[in-house]
Amino acid sequence: MPRTALVYSSRFEQFSYGSHHPFQLHRYGLALELLESYGLLELPTMERRDCSPVSDQQILSFHTPAYLQRLKEFSTSDEPRADFLFGLGDVDCPVFKGLYDYAALGAGASLEACRLVAEEGFGAVLSLAGGWHHGHRARASGFCYLNDAVIAINWLLERGRRVAYLDLDAHHGDGVQEGFYDDDRVLTISLHESGISFFPGTGFEDETGSGKGTGYTVNLPLLAHTDDPLYMRAFDEVVYPLLAAFDPDIIVAQIGADTFRTDPLTRLEITTHSYAYIMRKLQALKIPWVALGGGRLRPDEHGPGLDHCLGNDEQRGAFAPAAGSLCQEDPPAGLSPHHAAGCPALGRRA
Ligand SMILES: [Zn+2]
Repeated sequence: MPRTALVYSSRFEQFSYGSHHPFQLHRYGLALELLESYGLLELPTMERRDCSPVSDQQILSFHTPAYLQRLKEFSTSDEPRADFLFGLGDVDCPVFKGLYDYAALGAGASLEACRLVAEEGFGAVLSLAGGWHHGHRARASGFCYLNDAVIAINWLLERGRRVAYLDLDAHHGDGVQEGFYDDDRVLTISLHESGISFFPGTGFEDETGSGKGTGYTVNLPLLAHTDDPLYMRAFDEVVYPLLAAFDPDIIVAQIGADTFRTDPLTRLEITTHSYAYIMRKLQALKIPWVALGGGRLRPDEHGPGLDHCLGNDEQRGAFAPAAGSLCQEDPPAGLSPHHAAGCPALGRRA
């Protein structure tokens, strides 16, 4: 059985996008609680690791010095500020105190996950708070400030590793595509809801890379209401053969579960069935892999508007096969009142 690990720091929950922002960081604590309650962290092959922020040098392997400087400048206080040239200060990417520290810690978590696979022989590692795939070279976008995937993959490339990046999130992995568009050392594949009328408006099938990277960028834009049979067919007929042919040393997979049919912002209709299927297929390749958390929002049944709840139960279910565990049908006893009251993330509405 391959060694597996969860990389996470409780420091993530010390930051906040603001009380009205749809992305609530305490959801990570709920996700962790679920992982613990299901016993996934107690498996004999499972370890839990902390993480540190990435260095500026590592950030600059992708992001520009001017953008990094502005991030640091805006990170010093909660004073309302904006610089739309860099995508900072709008509704999606608000400015808050500690912004740079938070983003650097997120990138550090994903880099540590890659390091565990590359240097310590782990077979599968989850960076729960990773997956910031909309982070551009010089622009924040879609809740993302630093692109942890690109920074971590660059670290692997510096060590001569060949990497395949698979993006299952409902949104196109535009920032990661930007990072490796002209690079033949990284195969990037993104399955997502079509950008015809959907954020970020990119990820069409004719975006295939440039220069020596031509053919190493693959996009599968899916129409609204695509469901499990179509999704698994796309994976089987396009993604899986490409991954097998590319034969990477490491797979980095963004497993955002906002593809799920109950997500309020997306129109795909995927369930845990597809995710468990795909994770098992990845396991069958016997290629070490890193999973990045990614997106997921839910309508809050306990209050107005969008809120956390998340719990990332789907991601727990998706990662469970990699951890060598079968998903349980029912949530375990001892969950917080929030979950036990019928958190929709568990599919058990009160
Ligand atoms: Zn998303």
